[in-house]
Amino acid sequence: MASLVNGSAAVVVIGGGVIGASVAYHLAARGAREVVVLDRAPGPGDGSTGRATGGFRVQFGSAIDVRLSLLAREKLRRFAAETGGDCGYVPAGYLWVAETAPQLAALRDALAVQRANGVDDATEVDGDAIGALNPALRREQLVGGTYCANDGFIRPLQILDCYRRAAERLGVRFAWESEVVGLTRGRGGRIVAVRTPRGEIATEVVVNAAGPWAAHVAAFAGVDLPVVPLRRQVAVTVPTGALPATMPMTIFAGDGFHLRVRDGRVLLLLPSPGAADPFDVGVDAAWVDAVTGVARARIPPLRDVAIEHDACWAGLYEMSPDGHAIVGVAPGVPNLYLANGSSGHGVMHAPALGQLLAEIVLDGAARSLDVTALRPDRFTLGAAPRRTELL
Ligand SMILES: Cc1cc2nc3c(=O)[nH]c(=O)nc-3n(C[C@H](O)[C@H](O)[C@H](O)COP(=O)(O)OP(=O)(O)OC[C@H]3O[C@@H](n4cnc5c(N)ncnc54)[C@H](O)[C@@H]3O)c2cc1C
Repeated sequence: MASLVNGSAAVVVIGGGVIGASVAYHLAARGAREVVVLDRAPGPGDGSTGRATGGFRVQFGSAIDVRLSLLAREKLRRFAAETGGDCGYVPAGYLWVAETAPQLAALRDALAVQRANGVDDATEVDGDAIGALNPALRREQLVGGTYCANDGFIRPLQILDCYRRAAERLGVRFAWESEVVGLTRGRGGRIVAVRTPRGEIATEVVVNAAGPWAAHVAAFAGVDLPVVPLRRQVAVTVPTGALPATMPMTIFAGDGFHLRVRDGRVLLLLPSPGAADPFDVGVDAAWVDAVTGVARARIPPLRDVAIEHDACWAGLYEMSPDGHAIVGVAPGVPNLYLANGSSGHGVMHAPALGQLLAEIVLDGAARSLDVTALRPDRFTLGAAPRRTELL
């Protein structure tokens, strides 16, 4: 803590994951000075960001998520020019497949939302097109799907690293092993200092970017933030050439089973109930068996491909009640800004959310996009955006 600006900083960002790093970078790029990022971890990537698989898509079912993705995609395409680094964006495509008519209807509804919000590269696909896009799938059960060629993959830790380095070049300081244990409030409910075990930092602005732990941080300021952790597990095969590296991310609309190839292995995901301890990130062997069975039934080339149990991992989504991010000023605390609750889409939306939050802090309102749908008080106002089960 000795390295901090005289025990004070104009802005303290709590959490140095991809969201905190993006917010810090965008604030500094807009001219903010004395920005400090505090993270309790020993280094970058210890939270959810280091456990994300790295999918990117515009194929969502709500207008605000589609628009966040389009803004993020624009920024990913000029990421190197903006940050000097590589975000690893590979437009390998996202293929959604339906096994029933209601599932296909839900995909068509989402497609209509995408088109109404500026997506011109997503399309409905029939059985033959699905077979051409992913020949490994068993097609007998499939009734159709949707596809966007410019969806695909990004590299979560590279994005975090690039924003961190770019922010540091602009004077932002990242302090690791710096847990925030309290927030001191002053007149009008404003936060006047951030407390850590090694002392206080006086500040004018605080940003909560604490991922799945965001509710704990908000509670220090008396804010009841509805963000809860949800365990997501990833089963990983041994290195294999059974599926091509160019295979699009493929998602089953019915149960959310999805798979992709990353670094020569196949990653298998299937939503499952959370663990008894909501912050537990252990991998459940019975779940690995279940997802492997689902994969082998649906993708015949995987029938003889083994799972490498030591390579499997789990992490935490940061769920909000409606599955959308919570962005803006915390109710009752005028200088506490929230960049929380991305609900499993935080890496892909980080470029957009960082820019938008910087605008809210510096200009008083988001300029690049109308983020009214994400306002923190929407839950009490009954104005939450609609989300379909998976999209
Ligand atoms: C298995 C899995 C797959 C995923 N796949 C994708 C995907 O394909 N695409 C996508 O966009 N997203 C994906 N996600 C979601 C994505 O990982 C998150 O949305 C994103 O990483 C959230 O970033 P963050 O910066 O808010 O949180 P984090 O990366 O968790 O960062 C929060 C930081 O806050 C710090 N912190 C917490 N409490 C305190 C405190 N009191 N004091 C100081 N520091 C504190 C933590 O140490 C941590 O470093 C996936 C997640 C999982 C688990």
